[in-house]
Amino acid sequence: DAPAPQSEAVLKRRNKSFAKPQKNYYAAPPQIERGWKEHLFDVTGRAYLDMVNNVSILGHGNPTLAAAVGRQWSMLNTNSRFHYSVVADFSDRLAALAPEGLDTVFLVNSGSEAVDLAIRLAWAHSGRRNILSLLEAYHGWTVASDAVSTSLADNPQALETRPDWVHPVLSPNTYRGKFRGAGATEGYVAAVAETIAAIDARGDGLAGFIAESVYGNAGGIPLPPGYLQQVYAMVRARGGLCIADEVQVGYGRLGHHFWGFDQQGVVPDIITIAKGMGNGQPLGAVITRREVADSLEREGYFFSSAGGSPVSCIVGMTVLDIMQTEDLQRNARETGDYLKARLEALGQRFPLVGAVHGMGLYLGLEFVRDRETLEPATEETAAICNRLLDLGVIMQPTGDHLNVFKIKPPLCLARESADFFVDTLEKVLSEGW
Ligand code: PMP
Repeated sequence: DAPAPQSEAVLKRRNKSFAKPQKNYYAAPPQIERGWKEHLFDVTGRAYLDMVNNVSILGHGNPTLAAAVGRQWSMLNTNSRFHYSVVADFSDRLAALAPEGLDTVFLVNSGSEAVDLAIRLAWAHSGRRNILSLLEAYHGWTVASDAVSTSLADNPQALETRPDWVHPVLSPNTYRGKFRGAGATEGYVAAVAETIAAIDARGDGLAGFIAESVYGNAGGIPLPPGYLQQVYAMVRARGGLCIADEVQVGYGRLGHHFWGFDQQGVVPDIITIAKGMGNGQPLGAVITRREVADSLEREGYFFSSAGGSPVSCIVGMTVLDIMQTEDLQRNARETGDYLKARLEALGQRFPLVGAVHGMGLYLGLEFVRDRETLEPATEETAAICNRLLDLGVIMQPTGDHLNVFKIKPPLCLARESADFFVDTLEKVLSEGW
């Protein structure tokens, strides 16, 4: 379907002066003008249910956030090297959210920057370079965060082009990976042990390990039980640091846990966060131990002009305030559980639904052509996304086969909206997939 004429004109201008590799959703996207809670409105006034926006955790158009930002902008916004109080307030607050011992915060502007900095900390602290990263992962676009990204959906050449300090390990995907179901942990841990043994044999040591602690990029798949405990122990035995990338799955989205690593019963050495913490404002952070943070001084000092600016800190503080007053983690848990149960019921009726992964409001709905072979229903998933757009629902695929719906709506998602999503999906699936 062609977009509305005025929207097509803007799309043409976008394609003229905006660099091509910056992808947008959909071949014929609606031109979005306004948002309210989990809803988006295009220039024709048409409403869409936004089921994919993991950036706006509070929802769109939050008036409390808008007022707080406006107030701070008109009072002061400046380079973060000046002395002002809100940077201390926000750092304290983030450190208080982290497990004990992770008491030191760096403020940056994005998830990519946070991951880049985490890798640099692992290098500086260990004095070594080698980093283990999961296959099928996405961690960002900057040089180091891109290096540890192995997702074929984001870069089909990823595996041929990683630098030699990156050591990808088997994707611990218990649904379609090499080891499945209960008992898979051992196989995946052994695969990591093998890669570590090869690094041991090279003799240049291990700097660290990075992973999303619930496998978001693969479609919200929980890591096998005990996986991080065993892998973290092997990495630490070699003086390496364990990085939990919580950019997508952390910060309350899982509902049952504030942090993804809570689900694995581990405490990382470094946490990276971004996305929802700024509700769309560029904001990222690294939380670690004091001695790890201090090790960066061996490489000079660190400074980010806008990272931790007064406006960024006010955004971060206000997001946390609103999450608390609106009890959004509870909503992620309750509405997420409700949504998951409804999707599972849908799976009973439609064989194309292979599995429903995830928890809270980070769910993955995986489409397969055959439940035995698990052949990914990639083209079907793309077509279903397009059909959902026709019917007013925004949804996009993830995973190496692009056959998993990444369901990560604003955490204020109402039960009626969850119902609208499932009812609309049911209608689409009934059309003959
Ligand atoms: N880590 C993970 C797990 C992500 O999903 C992303 C973004 N999709 C990033 C890091 C990079 O974040 P940003 O886009 O804010 O640079």
